[in-house]
Amino acid sequence: MDVYVDKPKCTGCQHCKDVCPVAVFEMHSRKDMSASNADNAPQEMKWDGKPHADIHAKWANVNDGHKHYADENDGTSGGLSVGVNGSSCILCQACLIECEGECIHIIDDSGNKYQSIYK
Ligand code: SF4
Ligand code: SF4
Repeated sequence: MDVYVDKPKCTGCQHCKDVCPVAVFEMHSRKDMSASNADNAPQEMKWDGKPHADIHAKWANVNDGHKHYADENDGTSGGLSVGVNGSSCILCQACLIECEGECIHIIDDSGNKYQSIYK
C-alpha cells in the first residue's frame, strides 16, 4: 500500500495520525521541506510553502481545538501530515473519513486508488 498526502491541502488537524491503528502518519514542521515531503506524493502535491486557497479559506479560522496551519506540531495538531509507513496500511479507511483537507491518497498493491471524502 502506498499512502501519501496532498500537502497544500493538509490543514494539520492531525485526525489521520490520531485514528490510524498502524501509525502510518507522522506530523512534521511546515518549515522542514524535506521531512514534510518524505512520502511519495507526486510533484504537484508536494509542500512548497503555499496552502491550497479554497481549503485554507474553509479551515483557517475554524476554532475546534485543532491548530490549523500552525508551522509546528504540538502533539495534538499543527504541522503537516506525512505518510511515512504506508506499507503497514490495512485499508481500514478511517483516515479517509476523518481527513478534513480531503488530501489523503492510498494506492493498493493492485493499483486501486482511494481518496479522502470528508463530510
Ligand atoms: S486506511 Fe491505512 S493509513 Fe488510513 S487509517 Fe487505515 S490503516 Fe491508517
Ligand atoms: S487528516 Fe488530512 S488534513 Fe488533517 S492532518 Fe491528516 S492529512 Fe492533513
